[in-house]
Amino acid sequence: INLVRTDIVALLRRIQSLLGPDFQQNKIELDWPSDHKAVIILADPELIEQVLINLLKNAMEALNGEPDGKIKIRLSDVNNHRLKLYISDNGMGIDKNILDKIFVPFFTTKKKGTGVGLSLSKKIMKLHDGSIAVQSKKGKGTTFILDFPVEQEVS
Ligand code: ADP
Ligand code: MG
Repeated sequence: INLVRTDIVALLRRIQSLLGPDFQQNKIELDWPSDHKAVIILADPELIEQVLINLLKNAMEALNGEPDGKIKIRLSDVNNHRLKLYISDNGMGIDKNILDKIFVPFFTTKKKGTGVGLSLSKKIMKLHDGSIAVQSKKGKGTTFILDFPVEQEVS
């Protein structure tokens, strides 16, 4: 793992342009402030990019071409040198009974799923001294919450 000072806002923009065509094709509205100021975390950008792509692809799959599909990305304020990143969708949601299984390797509910994305994402967040959590309501939508340590300001 190669931890470097990484602007998470710039990384999100990069991924936004990477997945933009997919979002457009599926008529998904991406709700994410375009004027966010930089937030520097210590991260391996390639690994965090993987996590973000996993979460955004899952969100897209949860919307499954439905009209009014929306994905929302939000960053918290920095608090105690920690930053939270929220990725929400208004898709199908996750059944209570399987909520504790979705991070288990190879668990999938999809016909052509691998069940690898979330278990890998959890491992990557651990390597960053971070975490991943989920909140979901069946039929309403799902929010994944990433928690990162923020690079301390050196004065
Ligand atoms: P895969 O996408 O290959 O199924 P993942 O590890 O990425 O594997 O996800 C595991 C399971 O978690 C999915 O099969 C799905 O049931 C559930 N899941 C993940 N993200 C979402 C989401 N945004 N909305 C609804 N269900 C989700
Ligand atoms: Mg997946």
